[in-house]
Amino acid sequence: MQRSKTDFAVRRTRTGLGLFATRIIPRGKRIIEYTGPQISNEEAESRRGRYFFGVNKKWSIDGSPRTNTARYINHSCKPNAEPIISGSRIWIWSRKNIKPGDEITYDYGKEYFEGVIKPKGCRCEKCAAERKELRAKRLRRAVRGEKPSSLSDSNLRARGGAVASAPES
Ligand SMILES: [Zn+2]
Repeated sequence: MQRSKTDFAVRRTRTGLGLFATRIIPRGKRIIEYTGPQISNEEAESRRGRYFFGVNKKWSIDGSPRTNTARYINHSCKPNAEPIISGSRIWIWSRKNIKPGDEITYDYGKEYFEGVIKPKGCRCEKCAAERKELRAKRLRRAVRGEKPSSLSDSNLRARGGAVASAPES
């Protein structure tokens, strides 16, 4: 039986577009296939698109066509889905129960994360929450009159004090 397309929909996120569940997707279900023309890894390497998905040592799938709805799935460091390669095809499976309205995400993998996501700062929900928590901590410290150490360093420098004499160093 073909799964109904209404299990998910492309919607706006804080930062662009994403794929969202429109009804309950139970854990361990095949959600959607990551589709597109098969190209050699060599060619994928030379074209450097963001939608290439390696299938094996030889082949990648070029997921850039708009008909590939799975291309709208964003990266998360705490994902609720995962890609599983079977043969030369890639399917996205749920790894948790996904509620209607939840964004469907998977982990893009270490290489993509280190090379593309990390330099710009990860925008997944987990990392955004961590940044928010960090800001709140800094704010609480500032309210109590404590200075974050990086700030006191630059204050020392601004006053002409030798950084080498700062207690931290
Ligand atoms: Zn993240």
